[in-house]
Amino acid sequence: MSTENPAPRKLRVATVSLAGCFGCHMSFLDIDERLFELIEHVEFDRSPLTDIKTVGPCDIGLVEGGLCNAENVEVLRAFRANCRVLVAVGACAITGGLPALRNHLDVGDMLQAVYGTVPDDPELPLPLNKVHPIHEVVHIDHALPGCPPSADAFWQFLQDLIAGREPNLSHGLIRYD
Ligand code: SF4
Repeated sequence: MSTENPAPRKLRVATVSLAGCFGCHMSFLDIDERLFELIEHVEFDRSPLTDIKTVGPCDIGLVEGGLCNAENVEVLRAFRANCRVLVAVGACAITGGLPALRNHLDVGDMLQAVYGTVPDDPELPLPLNKVHPIHEVVHIDHALPGCPPSADAFWQFLQDLIAGREPNLSHGLIRYD
């Protein structure tokens, strides 16, 4: 009988960009060669990194962006239902961010001004009247601030979660710009 311990199970991680600019995902990828170390410990579920389209049972869900349309809400609810730990990543997910600048304007007027009509293709998701931060719709377990959070902040945050610690960003890694 082998005395070797089986390799620990990899944590399953899903990521998504809702009403965001993908800047948070780009910053995450800036961990560069540390990605190789990361995938020793995690495997990716739904994510722009995998092209998996629907989220399955996961340990960690990283959500970039707030909620600007009905599809965002549906995807967010699926993440909450499937992810043991849900993280609001970046200013847009935490506060609505830049997209929420439209909140003092009328959606119909905006669409009219931009497109000259109100687009009504049934394939298009229904816009919400206001852009919402994700905590207004689902419970979140952690917030990783920044626009975007730095690669080092992503790295430390994920290291803490992988080790089963409460995330605790050291000095200089928490920022709100
Ligand atoms: Fe883009 Fe900043 Fe929003 Fe991240 S927080 S999605 S970088 S605008």
